[in-house]
Amino acid sequence: MSTVATDIQQAVEDAAAHLYVWALKDIPQDLRDALAEAKDRETSIPGKRVLETIVRNVEIADSNSNLVCQDTGIAVYTCRVGEDFPLHPARIYEALKAGTERATLEHPLRSNAVHTLTRENTGPNTGYRLPIVHWEFISGWDGLDVKCVPKGSGSENMSFLKMCVPADGVNGIKKFVLESIVESGGKPCPPGIVGVGIGGSADYAMYLAKEAIARPIGTRNHDPHVAKLEEELYELLNETGIGPMGLGGDVTVLNCHIEHADTHMTLNPVAVNYQCWAARRASAHVAADGSVDFDREA
Ligand code: SF4
Repeated sequence: MSTVATDIQQAVEDAAAHLYVWALKDIPQDLRDALAEAKDRETSIPGKRVLETIVRNVEIADSNSNLVCQDTGIAVYTCRVGEDFPLHPARIYEALKAGTERATLEHPLRSNAVHTLTRENTGPNTGYRLPIVHWEFISGWDGLDVKCVPKGSGSENMSFLKMCVPADGVNGIKKFVLESIVESGGKPCPPGIVGVGIGGSADYAMYLAKEAIARPIGTRNHDPHVAKLEEELYELLNETGIGPMGLGGDVTVLNCHIEHADTHMTLNPVAVNYQCWAARRASAHVAADGSVDFDREA
């Protein structure tokens, strides 16, 4: 789909409004394929029933043009901003916030945003520092990529961080990831994507885990050491027997993705972020002239 807008801030706002709803209604093809494949290979009867129900749920959402899950999550955007893109990031943030509000009010969507202490609703899925936006700046480019990943609370609550010591090594990382997922059981609506962030610092490791869940399912890290760990964890996690919705079975996770960063010689941070079966994501590419292309990947 392609549109042309003369007002660049309006174009970004329109894109955000579309992305949030699109992500919630129409899950990506790689996720559909992974769920169908999981349904076919699951051997436990309760697990297979759960997966059949999930696949049917997606079909009904398609035919009714409705959401795949009632939890509209918190809107999390990742922006890649070209240095020559003709809209300042402060205005991009305004546009993303306005787009999130419009999507919530116009669809309408459930508004989940509350003050973290008073628990009072703060607005149409917006509030202080909501939506959440991650930024990356690209030199020598005049475009903007926006990815929207609505994050449901069931899976977000199953987030874990451990500052392993370097002597724990790769086995320490594996142990922590496995313990985290076993402890989570059925709470994060499995089977989903286990995102793991390793290296960097405590906060950056969690950011990396979040990046990992937003990748197309089954893609592998460019670093062969990390890719090997992804494969090993994927197999180990499915040997836990937790199964779909924690009812037991062969398919506990659809995949395991890892993002990494180099780190201090005495650090070994490991973060785990779960993404449920409704692993929603959608992207838009905004050109300097205001034209917008919608795509799955940013
Ligand atoms: S964790 Fe995911 S599937 Fe479960 S209720 Fe939340 S958004 Fe829906």
